Amino acid sequence: MAARFNPIIIGSERSEAGIPAAMEILRAGGSALDAVERGLRLCEDNLNDHYVGTGGLPNARGVVELDASIMVGSTRAFGAVAAVKNYPNPISIARKVMEQLPQHSLLVGEGAEAFAEYLGFTTVELLTPESKKLWLKQLETANSESIEGENTRATSGDERYRLASLELVKRMAPHTGPWGTINIIALDQFGELVCGVSTSGYPYKHPGRVGDSAIAGAGNYSDIRYGAGACTGRGELALRSGTARTIVENLRAGQDPETACANALLEARALPDDFRAELRCLSLTQDGRHGGAAGMEGSTYTLMTEHSTAPEFRPRRIL
Ligand code: ASP
Repeated sequence: MAARFNPIIIGSERSEAGIPAAMEILRAGGSALDAVERGLRLCEDNLNDHYVGTGGLPNARGVVELDASIMVGSTRAFGAVAAVKNYPNPISIARKVMEQLPQHSLLVGEGAEAFAEYLGFTTVELLTPESKKLWLKQLETANSESIEGENTRATSGDERYRLASLELVKRMAPHTGPWGTINIIALDQFGELVCGVSTSGYPYKHPGRVGDSAIAGAGNYSDIRYGAGACTGRGELALRSGTARTIVENLRAGQDPETACANALLEARALPDDFRAELRCLSLTQDGRHGGAAGMEGSTYTLMTEHSTAPEFRPRRIL
């Protein structure tokens, strides 16, 4: 009889909205794939979370565009969608890309939406009144200095965007406080290690911008032989540095998960980058070791084992 693994699940900040239900699946003998999808769907449906799914903060034009991906550690099968509008659960579309379109790994924009429609997924308005208010406030702030030669006080967000889009995008800043993508990594009793990532992306991004969350090796990577790695925060750094894959390479070199995250983060942060946001890393191995690293004091990650009665919060190594 094959050895039984001890199920465990970890997630980035605010994943506690989905992790208990995901652990229920693992406890009942379910798969890591089902657990990760279930957990992320609940996070995507959490209206109080402005960085994922419904209620996510929109792009500079006021339109919510979602990215998500899922990766299976035993096969390195990967499915992802990016810049998806109107569909509240991109993680489920990403899973279907992996399962039903094995000749593809990533669908974007209209094509991803057409696939979701074909699958029978329903559409919703992703921009909630609360997210719209936050966007309008940011637009107002960004517009408070006039942009030379342009009338940035035009009426609709769309028109303002066309008038001075690049200037506006440069001026739009993230909110202070906990923000970012959701990572969930689960190990099931069969030893499968699945990593999922879902996000509304960088708030007020340029329309069409895709971050690390949808890209294998950047924001998401799982290889059962060594472990899984995932990122939140400044996606362009993870894209440029291949951070999730670097975490896994560090595990492969024998580093423990926290050190693997810390070294991957240091490598990404060594790149020249004027932007104001930080990158964060998370990792779990098939033998149940885990760890994380971040720049912000007090950063944590969420953990549940089979014996947990509630999500537990663990400190990340702060660099
Ligand atoms: N990593 C995400 C992205 O770049 C953003 C975030 O985590 O806040 O799209």
